[in-house]
Amino acid sequence: MNAHTKAPEAAKGVFIDNRWHKPANGRTLPVVAPAEGVVFAEIAAGGAEDVDRAVKAARKAAEGGAWGRMSATERGRLLTKLALAIEANAEDLARLEARDTGKPMKQARADMVATARYFEFYGGAADKVHGETIPFLPGYFVTTERVPFGVTAHVIPWNYPAQMFGRTVGPALAMGNACVVKPAEDACLTPLRLAELMAEVGFPEGAIAVVPGLGEEAGAALSGHPDIDFISFTGSPEVGTLIQTAAARNHIGCTLELGGKSPHVVFGDADLDTAASVIANTMVQNAGQTCSAGSRVLVEKAAYERVVTALADRFGKLVAGTPEMDRDLGPVINATQKKRIEGFFARAEEGSVPVLASGTIAAGVPDGGFFVAPRIYGPVPRGNELANKEVFGPVLSVLPFEDEADAVRLANGTDYGLMAAVWSHDGNRAVRVSRGIKAGQVYINAFGAGGGIELPFGGMKKSGHGREKGFAALHDISTIRTTIIKHG
Ligand code: NAD
Repeated sequence: MNAHTKAPEAAKGVFIDNRWHKPANGRTLPVVAPAEGVVFAEIAAGGAEDVDRAVKAARKAAEGGAWGRMSATERGRLLTKLALAIEANAEDLARLEARDTGKPMKQARADMVATARYFEFYGGAADKVHGETIPFLPGYFVTTERVPFGVTAHVIPWNYPAQMFGRTVGPALAMGNACVVKPAEDACLTPLRLAELMAEVGFPEGAIAVVPGLGEEAGAALSGHPDIDFISFTGSPEVGTLIQTAAARNHIGCTLELGGKSPHVVFGDADLDTAASVIANTMVQNAGQTCSAGSRVLVEKAAYERVVTALADRFGKLVAGTPEMDRDLGPVINATQKKRIEGFFARAEEGSVPVLASGTIAAGVPDGGFFVAPRIYGPVPRGNELANKEVFGPVLSVLPFEDEADAVRLANGTDYGLMAAVWSHDGNRAVRVSRGIKAGQVYINAFGAGGGIELPFGGMKKSGHGREKGFAALHDISTIRTTIIKHG
């Protein structure tokens, strides 16, 4: 336990109109450090009254308030200032994130680089979103412009709290929306601190509100609030259904970023050493609790033994530890998640799915920490849950395939379609296979690419809809006004 990673005192409140407020119900929730299994902070258990207050403040800011009157260039400058403030506070933010989520310090530091980059990118983009002129009837001049929705609601998960905050509010603010954020109850200290930093760099009142609390209370109150204009959600498919239902009741739109079971398709002619090390490292990043984790490795039959040997060798060397130990991965987020993953292990054992290798847990980690040693399984039978279900933990499944057609069929053989990778030095084949895969992002001879802030990201199939990141996010978090002028 580190004295200097104490949660901010102010994190006990809800952040509205650039100030901390006590939650209306006066209740708090404990925050547990996953690497220690002990409570180290408290957050407000925000509820419907706080959400209502936040939405009212946002509405006022968006319509007639200083925020709503700002030019796109001024908004961009504020976002850029925020990026610089995040860089200046990166070490403190990284420590807070690491304590709250359990992730190794190097991963938390990388998360802060990415978070700052979101605001840098969207700060630069804010005044570069242009409309069109449309040829129409004689005597008419028609133009379109991108306008904000107004008040946007953002419900985010616990796996990358700071990055998720940047990813969702960065483009929303760039377009001029006022944002109300409901971070996850399991890890929300950096979103609260980032909102505070926004006030410090000069964002006007109401541009941002953060209401922490339970999903079924604050989350449900926000997504069902009658005066929000759009919902951006990242989380589980089950809650995604609730969010989309709430949006439908209000006749508003939403983007859903849900889970994945993203495949790596590995052909024998690939650089197998590079592939194995990228696959293993990206799989255990954030202890496998990454929606875009490449958790299925589909291997050409002829190369199966070679690939499995290379992957097992790497998995066998992986070590889980505390944030300060800074090993390959940290603990998972909570006891429930650990139990859920161990359930997969137990069922795999019952079904005699072979374990190819296991990593280890470093000596000296606290007894109460939620550590899981990474595991690689193979060959996983096609119908087995390890081949199809998202584990959201440091678990990799390997399955052999016969030929290209079989690889594509297998890659598309789950409900999900978030990311994929094809590994081959035959360029034509790599492109051909990549174009057959239904996924929002497909890599060739690479994976992950450090967050790829510039690259449109989102799901096909049950991984969700709508796009975040890149310019695509600016389009999805705004709407079009068409002005039709009759000039005779
Ligand atoms: P979750 O769906 O339980 O929670 C996500 C958020 O929704 C949290 O803030 C939670 O408080 C809130 N929530 C819960 N119940 C709610 C309700 N009834 N109404 C409104 N809000 C509610 O997901 P999680 O456990 O935090 O995250 C794990 C899941 O998220 C995984 O399935 C993972 O794949 C997915 N995920 C997807 C992405 C992506 O970009 N596609 C990114 C991260 C996580």
